[in-house]
Amino acid sequence: MTQFVLPEVPSRGGAQPGTVYLVGAGPGDPELLTLRALRLIREADVLVYDQLVSDAILGLVNPAAERIYAGKQRGNHAVPQEDLNLLLVQLARRGQRVVRLKGGDPYTFGRGGEEVETLRENGVPFEVVPGVTAAAGVAAYAGIPLTHRNYAQACVFVTGHLKDGSMNLDWPGLARRRQTVIIYMGLHGLSYLCEQLILHGLPADWPAAIVQQGTTPNQRTITGTLATLPELAAQAGLKPPTLIIVGEVVRLRDKLAWFEKYDPTTNVD
Ligand code: SAH
Repeated sequence: MTQFVLPEVPSRGGAQPGTVYLVGAGPGDPELLTLRALRLIREADVLVYDQLVSDAILGLVNPAAERIYAGKQRGNHAVPQEDLNLLLVQLARRGQRVVRLKGGDPYTFGRGGEEVETLRENGVPFEVVPGVTAAAGVAAYAGIPLTHRNYAQACVFVTGHLKDGSMNLDWPGLARRRQTVIIYMGLHGLSYLCEQLILHGLPADWPAAIVQQGTTPNQRTITGTLATLPELAAQAGLKPPTLIIVGEVVRLRDKLAWFEKYDPTTNVD
């Protein structure tokens, strides 16, 4: 058999000195990086990365690149956001190829917009490379098609973690049938979230799932209902990052799950 050789990938060119690349790393599985992301992390002089970027992806970064950890955990910012925005400006002014690597997609709950605003204000050239956001990656690997048309015509992404620590969401808008609700950063408020959705009209037995470290070898998925999920998640001792998916599409997981059962040594479920 002749070996298939990948054709040359068209490119807009590699990383340029003095430029900041705001790059989405996807949800964890390195194979979900875009070609552009891979090219840029291989060429970076300096990498500024978040806690959410997986070790498997860090292993692909130019080994000679300086690494700066800008990780964030709930309420505990390793580098305050304002300092980080300015740090990117300074690094670019040193004439380096700066890759700012973020989990998922940089413009989806990633504060990428704020970082780029500062770059623009300071006249620093930048490029934004989208990534597979957790909702897309995690749902696919958990076997939950977010907008299967028999169950949902809309899909809403919300954050369960607001600036002041509260969860002040548009509950009537979220507690709707025929829609899927994805909650980022929601583990801490899971009980409150489920309670509010029931209070605003969804049935207590409405399907809901929580997925820990989706797309990685540590992926764990727990399914239940708005009434049962908080307890099930607590029993399982889940840890962030987790993504919560609420809606009837969650039921399809019974039929469509593939990743957690997949055994690459035998290639069978
Ligand atoms: N920019 C990121 C989101 C950053 S907010 C993106 O587009 O995906 C961080 C939240 O994303 C986490 O608290 C969690 O809710 C979600 N998340 C990111 N990666 C995840 C993963 N591998 N599994 C489950 N949830 C994840």
